Amino acid sequence: MLISPRLILQAVRYIASWVFRCPYWIYLKTKYPDFDTILPEMLERGKKAENEFRKVLKADKIWFREQVSLKYVADNYTISGRADFVTSDRVYEVKHVEKFRKPSKNWLGQLNLYLAMTGRDNGSIVEFNGDRFREYRVRFSRKLFRDSLRFFDRIHSGRYSAYPWYCRYCSYSFICSKRR
Ligand code: SF4
Repeated sequence: MLISPRLILQAVRYIASWVFRCPYWIYLKTKYPDFDTILPEMLERGKKAENEFRKVLKADKIWFREQVSLKYVADNYTISGRADFVTSDRVYEVKHVEKFRKPSKNWLGQLNLYLAMTGRDNGSIVEFNGDRFREYRVRFSRKLFRDSLRFFDRIHSGRYSAYPWYCRYCSYSFICSKRR
C-alpha cells in the first residue's frame, strides 16, 4: 500500500509550547534533544504548582481531566500538546513563577492552541508563586491561532531565525552560535 505524501508530512510533529519561542531554539531542540538543560528544580516547581491547583479544583468540586493529550492536524504537519487541566468549559495552563506578571505571548499562544484543539472558548493561565495563585483569563482568539499557524509554517519551511531577546533564559545558550 502506498502512503500518501500528505500523511507523511502530517507525521512531522511540533509541540504547542514551542509557539512564538526563538525559532533557532526549536532548531537546536529538534537537532539535539538530549542537550536541553531544564533544571530539575524547575520541573519540580512546575509539578508542585500543578499539584496545588489540582487541590483547588477538587475543593471546588469542579470536574476535570488532567495532562490531556491534544493535537491539531494542519496541512503539512501536526501540532501536539498536553493541557494541564481541562474542565467542561475551560482549559487551565498552570505555571510556576517567581513573580506574578503579564503572561508572555508564548504562554498565550500555547493556551490558545489548546482552546482550538479542545473546542473550548475560555482558558486561564494560572500562575503560582509557591504561596498564592493568580488567574489570567482569556477567550479563544482566531487571530492568535492564525499567527500561531504562520509561526509553525515558517519553522516547517526551515526558516529558523533567532530571537536574541530570549537568550538569557535559553536552555540551549551554551551551544548557540547566535546567542547575544
Ligand atoms: S541562545 Fe538565543 S538565539 Fe540561541 S537559541 Fe537560545 S534564544 Fe535563540
